[in-house]
This record gives sequence, structure tokens and C-alpha cells, in this order.
Amino acid sequence: MGTPGFLAIGSGPAGVSAAETFRARHPKIPVRILSADPALPYAKPPLNKEYLGGGHANLELHTAGWFRRHDIELRLGVTVEHIDVEAQEVVTAGGARFPYWHLVLAPGSAAVPLGVPGGDTAQPLRSFADAVALKMAARYASTAVVIGGGLIGCETAGRLAALGVDTALVLPEAAPLQRRFGMEVGLRVARMLADVGVRVVCGTAVDAVDEVGVTLASGEKVDGDVVVAATGVRPDIRLAADAGLTTRHGRVVVDEHMRTSARNIYAAGDVTIAYNSAAGRPVVAEHWRDAAQQGLVAGLTAAGHSAAWDKVPGFTCAIGTFTLNYRGWGSGFDDFTLTEKAGGFTVTYRGRGRVVGTLEARSNPAS
Ligand SMILES: Cc1cc2nc3c(=O)[nH]c(=O)nc-3n(C[C@H](O)[C@H](O)[C@H](O)COP(=O)(O)OP(=O)(O)OC[C@H]3O[C@@H](n4cnc5c(N)ncnc54)[C@H](O)[C@@H]3O)c2cc1C
Repeated sequence: MGTPGFLAIGSGPAGVSAAETFRARHPKIPVRILSADPALPYAKPPLNKEYLGGGHANLELHTAGWFRRHDIELRLGVTVEHIDVEAQEVVTAGGARFPYWHLVLAPGSAAVPLGVPGGDTAQPLRSFADAVALKMAARYASTAVVIGGGLIGCETAGRLAALGVDTALVLPEAAPLQRRFGMEVGLRVARMLADVGVRVVCGTAVDAVDEVGVTLASGEKVDGDVVVAATGVRPDIRLAADAGLTTRHGRVVVDEHMRTSARNIYAAGDVTIAYNSAAGRPVVAEHWRDAAQQGLVAGLTAAGHSAAWDKVPGFTCAIGTFTLNYRGWGSGFDDFTLTEKAGGFTVTYRGRGRVVGTLEARSNPAS
């Protein structure tokens, strides 16, 4: 049970940032994080980049000693099953109840299952445990199939190929990242991957996964000692919906201060659709820095300080020997201008005559 205070559900960037921000403002009030993940809070972006590639990967967000010194109680491997809004308590899978004055809901997203025969045997890549399993499997693999042409699929395929694994990337779209960045950039991303040895198989679905690889809709078999499911994620709104919080488009609705529709409950990170005061409308951002930023705003609001989410969302990713840097509202575009630069290109996306995003691609041949 314990004394009520500040409580965060989730030990990703949103939950940790909220807890440490609140602690910095209120040294005496109990601060607690409950997380289903058994690992000490870690950085996810390096998992399928430096960590998978075998280079130096700085994964640790804070040491166990840091949490102790800052008097933040970290309960790992604990799944919250229910929020009792009336009693201001959360209930765990084991039936333990934790009271709160302020609750930050930051459960992130869950992987979209690969709904084909054998799909459950494909390796997901959402957590440190998944990354360890993939890294070990890659060590003994000569072939790999990565299913899904989004950011995680493209990055992972490029890293596996760089490790010397004969890798295919299979996707239903006409080009990788096409839905996000358009066809012209998609074709360039396909080339970035081909240049590091990835065989990019576009416009086809996977019909089945078995112990030797995958079967495509065309009937073609693609060998994979390792098969990775990078088939997308879905915000995990189960707790919020069960507690009666307002949700829209499968996300928890929060204002610019990260307040949900329930008293003393805030939400931050991948799970939200949040009002952004610079955009003047609700925005979805499923990126590391934005989750940490929303956590900071939630922590400040809970601590009684004035704070609003007003940053332009964005992310950096690494595909083959390229680094891609995107800043923008990520809500589609009407047209774009692509400009060639030494060692890369930039793209300016416009919607309704205004700039809605910029993408910069830069080659780092040493990577
Ligand atoms: C392999 C990989 C690479 C990525 N690369 C990039 C990148 O290069 N750039 C970028 O911007 N973003 C990247 N991302 C996305 C980024 O990591 C996410 O946007 C970010 O982690 C979201 O933070 P969050 O705090 O909302 O959720 P998460 O980081 O997903 O954390 C959610 C936490 O909640 C816990 N939880 C869930 N349900 C419960 C429950 N019921 N009870 C208790 N705990 C619960 C989970 O165990 C987890 O600890 C990557 C993600 C992955 C998986």
C-alpha cells in the first residue's frame, strides 16, 4: 500500500521524466514509479542501432543509486491492472493497491501483433529483453527477414545487414517510409538500404512465418534464421478506457498541461493525443524526446507549476549510413520540395500553403 503522493505508471521517458521533475519540485512528497518492465529504465532508440550493431550503447537513463538518492521508489515488473478514480488508487495484477494524489499515466504503446500463421514466433522489438533476444539470435544467423517498412523496420534491417546477415525487408507499401515521407523519399530510403546490402521487397504482404523464414502472398519463400516483426505499435489505452478517461482515435486526450479528463490524472508520451499550444491543436507525437518533454510538463503541472507543451515534435533515426532528422507535425502534407545537398538532401513539406515539416538526410560513411 504505502502513503499517497506522486505516482507514475510506466518507466519510459514520459514516466521517468514526470517523476524526476515532480521530485525536483517537492523533495518531501513520496514519488513512486510502477512499471511492467523488469529492467532499470533505459533508452529505447539505441536498442536497434548501437546496441544491435555491437557498438558502444549508452542505454541507462539513471542508475539504481540515482533513484535511491532522489528518493524515487521504483517498482519494476509490476503491471497495473486498474485505476480506481474514486478512491485515487491503482490496483496491480497481484491485487496490491497504491494510493495517489497525482497520477501520470505513461504506458506507451504495444506492438501490433502479426496476424498470420506463425506470426507469434516472429521476434518483436519493443523492449530491452526483445533487443537482447534479437542480438543473440543475429549472432548465429546467416539470414534475416524484417517485416514492416516503418522506422524501426528500416533501421533494424540496415543494422542486421551491416552485421553481415543476409537481410530482406518485406513491406506492403511501394517503398519504405512512403506513408510518412512520400514516394520520392521512400525510393531514396530503399536505396540507402540496398547500399548496405538489404534486399528490399516492396508491395507484398507476409502470409506465414515458419522456422525457415516467411512465405509471401505471392507464394515466394524468403529465408530467415531470424524473423523480426516490426509491424507497428498501438497506444495502450486499456487502463485509461477502463477508468473512463476521455480517449479519441485510440489515444488518451490531454490538454497542453497534460491533464486528462479525470481529476489529478495526467498522461504523457506515446499514449496521448495532446494539445500543442504552438500548433494550436491536438497533436500526436510518438517519439522519444516528445515523450520526455510531455513527461516534464506533466510533472510540472502535477507539482503546481505552470507548464505547457509547445515544442515542435521530431526525431532522429539512422538508416544504413544515413542519419535522418525530422521536425514537424507529422500529419500529412499536400506538396514538398526536395533539395540535393552534399552527402544528402533536405525536404520541406507543406500543407495548406504552410510549412508543416522538414526532413534532413545526411550520409555518415564511417557509420
Ligand atoms: C527499438 C526502438 C527504437 C526506437 N527508436 C527511436 C528513435 O530513434 N527516435 C525516437 O524519437 N523514438 C524512437 N523510438 C520510440 C520511442 O522509444 C518511444 O516514442 C518512447 O519510448 C515512448 O515513451 P513512453 O514513455 O510514452 O512509453 P514507453 O517508452 O513505451 O514506456 C512505457 C512503459 O510503461 C510500462 N507499462 C505499460 N503498461 C503498463 C502497465 N499496465 N502497468 C505498469 N507499467 C506499464 C512499460 O513496461 C514501459 O516501461 C524507438 C522505439 C523502439 C522500441
